[in-house]
Order: sequence, then C-alpha cells, then structure tokens
Amino acid sequence: MIYDCHLHTCFSGDSKASVRSQVERAISLGMKEICFTDHHDHDSWFCEDNFELDIPAYLKAMKTYQKKYKDRIRINIGIELGLQDHLGAYFERFDEVFRDSFDFVIGSSHFVSCMDPYYPSYWEHHGEREGITSFLEASLARAKAFYPYFDSFGHLDYVVRYAPHKDYAYSYEAFKDWIDPILQVLIDHGRALECNTGGLKYGLSQPNPSSSILKRYREMGGELITIGSDAHAPEHLGYGFDACQRLLRECGFRWYAVFHGRRPEMIPL
Ligand SMILES: [Zn+2]
Ligand SMILES: [Zn+2]
Repeated sequence: MIYDCHLHTCFSGDSKASVRSQVERAISLGMKEICFTDHHDHDSWFCEDNFELDIPAYLKAMKTYQKKYKDRIRINIGIELGLQDHLGAYFERFDEVFRDSFDFVIGSSHFVSCMDPYYPSYWEHHGEREGITSFLEASLARAKAFYPYFDSFGHLDYVVRYAPHKDYAYSYEAFKDWIDPILQVLIDHGRALECNTGGLKYGLSQPNPSSSILKRYREMGGELITIGSDAHAPEHLGYGFDACQRLLRECGFRWYAVFHGRRPEMIPL
C-alpha cells in the first residue's frame, strides 16, 4: 500500500479525527509510514473554521506518537501551509524558525483574495470560468514566489471540486497557459507535484491534479510526485490509492517520493 502523505487530525479546524485513530487505520491498511500534514492557513480570519495551527503543541503531540508507535509504523511530521499572496514575510520567518522541525511541507492554495471557493459566494462573485482562472493565476504567482518554503505543491486544480458544474468548464487544454508555467516552476526548482485523491470520495472521477496534468508534468521532465488522500477522517485514509497507483503508472511514473527531514526518498510505484 502506498504511504499516505497528506493527512489531517483534530489539530486542523475541519477535522475531528484523533491522531491515534488515523495511525491505527494506516497500520490496519498495512502502511509502513505516513505523514501528518495538518492545516496551517495563517491569517485566514475570513474562514468559519480556525485554520491557524498551534505549531508547538502539534509538534509536541506528534513526537509523542512517533515514539509510541515506532515499532509499528514510521510517523513523519508535516504541515499543509496555506499559500496567500501577502504572506511572503511571514513564510520567510516561518522557514527560519521551523525549517528543521518538519519532515515535509505541502504548499497549498485554498483561498483567492480572502474568498474561499468552497462557498457558493466565490462562484457568484467570479462566474465559473473566471473562478477557475483566478485560482490558477493566484496559484502560479504563489508557486513562483513561495517555492523556497514548500516541498510539494498541493492539489493543483482543487478549485474544480467546488465549481458549480464540477469539471464541466474545465480541462487541461483550456487552462494550460496557467498550468504549464506552474509545472515549470516546480521542475526548475526541484519541487514535487502532489497527487491528491481527496476528491474521489466526493464522486470526482480524477485525482487533483487530473491525469492530463500528471501526464504533462511527466512529459516536461517532472519526476517528483507525492501522494496523499487528504483524509480528515480514518475511513478516508488511503482512499483511491489502488486506482491512483494504476493511473500514475499509465502517466509514466515509476516512483513516488516520501519526505524525511525535507528530503525526498523515492519509493517504487
Ligand atoms: Zn488543502
Ligand atoms: Zn489537506
């Protein structure tokens, strides 16, 4: 079983899962390693949930679980860093203080101009195509500005999950002017692209990003892939991993990466 490297617990404002329940589930699925990546969306005051992580408390708890389970599973400590345009100075400071505290940092776009595509108001404001464009435009600017601070770029086209007609107005071809340069930034700077299976449990037929983007990344010379279910509850841990493994092999990947101490270790797919 592929090791799940995108997992949430009750340290995230939108999850009630205990660390223990996630770890036990991973062990029952036969995983030898996992990586927790709880949300840290600094300055997300406009959200209903609190996405600001109590980092010292999180690190302390995770280290305790690492020790407790060391003979049964390797627990890596990661974080999902929410990327917003105005946070450059904050990320610089974050990196100075916490660079060595984490095994793995996912950089994810969740919001555009303090609006969350999760809510219909985002789409009412933008319209469908423009909502996707704005998200990808912001993602490109953030990949360029913030690549020094993350290891893998989270769920690249995740905005499509919440579009009113899902992927009806969406394809790689229609948005390649934004997608290709994002992939190029990742390749140029040795950053990984995340394959996130979280949308599959809501009936999406593709992971984020979609197979055409995964293929394109491989075509452009991209090799570093990380894989995560984005599970906020134990029953979703490892969700869709068999299909994901087949898809990635079809797209030309033979390895995926698991990060230890911010360095990738390649594992056969
Ligand atoms: Zn996310
Ligand atoms: Zn997540």
